[in-house]
Amino acid sequence: MLEKRVKTLENTACARSICKAVAYLKGMVFIMELTYIINGKIVLPDAVVSGKALAFCEESGKIAGLYDSVPADAKIIDADGGYVAPGLVDIHIHGYLGEDVCDANPEGLKNIAYGIAKNGVTSFLPTTMTVAKDDIIAALNAARSVKEESKSWDGAEILGVHAEGPFINPSKKGAQAEENILVPDADFVLENADIITSITIAPEMDKDHACIKKLAAESNILVSMGHTDAKFDEAMSAIKDGATHATHLFNAMSALAHRNPGVVGAALASEDASVEFIADTFHINPGLYSIVAKLKGRKTVLITDCVRAGGMPDGEYELGGQPIFLHGIECRLADGTIAGSVLRLNDAVKNVLAHTDLAVNEVFNMASLNPAAAIHVSDRKGSLEAGKDADIIITDENIQIIRTVKGGKTIYVA
Ligand SMILES: [Zn+2]
Repeated sequence: MLEKRVKTLENTACARSICKAVAYLKGMVFIMELTYIINGKIVLPDAVVSGKALAFCEESGKIAGLYDSVPADAKIIDADGGYVAPGLVDIHIHGYLGEDVCDANPEGLKNIAYGIAKNGVTSFLPTTMTVAKDDIIAALNAARSVKEESKSWDGAEILGVHAEGPFINPSKKGAQAEENILVPDADFVLENADIITSITIAPEMDKDHACIKKLAAESNILVSMGHTDAKFDEAMSAIKDGATHATHLFNAMSALAHRNPGVVGAALASEDASVEFIADTFHINPGLYSIVAKLKGRKTVLITDCVRAGGMPDGEYELGGQPIFLHGIECRLADGTIAGSVLRLNDAVKNVLAHTDLAVNEVFNMASLNPAAAIHVSDRKGSLEAGKDADIIITDENIQIIRTVKGGKTIYVA
């Protein structure tokens, strides 16, 4: 079969004009047409490399690797001196462009996916709020109905759902509606393990951490501590029991104080825990970006926590059944409580670069490789390594998106 395909290619007129590259995969030989991105600063996990070309195959949708030279007649994309980086992965986003994941509308999910592709996001976890259980189920069903289609549409791919609640602490509910908060129930999550990729839980609401332990034992779901008032010791034991991530670190959780280090202290102290934060310069002081990144290294994840007001003009919107008010980069409930963000993930990268002395590759990792690793997809997502999905962005110096490639297909050009 493969031999026949090779022969067919060689016998066609176009075979002479295409760049032929031979890739060896598990002992099989393929002939692929490669596209080469040239003149870019290529962002790899451990370094930023210039003077090489990054090649990918549109047909297979995979990255082929780095090349010192480009064959004549090869298909070229000129990065014009910009960064060539992995497609961004947003594991915490509620909405964009007027749409909300909790609307349970497949078309709305598609609009979000297409909208955030312009911000360099190539895969994401649509994130539910603490709404009524039936509404969460409807949102899960909507995501389920388009997950497969999202692999090939011209927007970001849906990797699963992050359920933010409903198993949270009313005292740290933030913008989540209290009447919808429920006691942690592992069976509900496991029944939906085909679509739930991550869940936010307050460990102190989970008696004996039964839910956390069961999810850790019986699933691959990322269990995250969030909207929680747990004490340091309880948070440390929750991490041991399997709650290995912290949802929007610092926001809606017990703070790091010198006599009670809280969930923040536990998440920072434990090598097993990854953390995510909202780098919009408003949710947490930018002075913390460097502190967290230096403590957590590759366990540092940038998220947007973007709500439906993202990408929209100032005004009144809705979040989890409550009115919210957008003014500039600030989104609040009527009582002033912060209610999600309108951050774009590429701007999160820009903000961390602007406020730290961290290496460029490490900051890009925070929005690509690190979230991919947190949700166990770094074997195929999150970095520009041969064999991984060709999810690639080209940005200018200000991390504004010039081009987004997903699975080898260009889905956005500025
Ligand atoms: Zn959120």
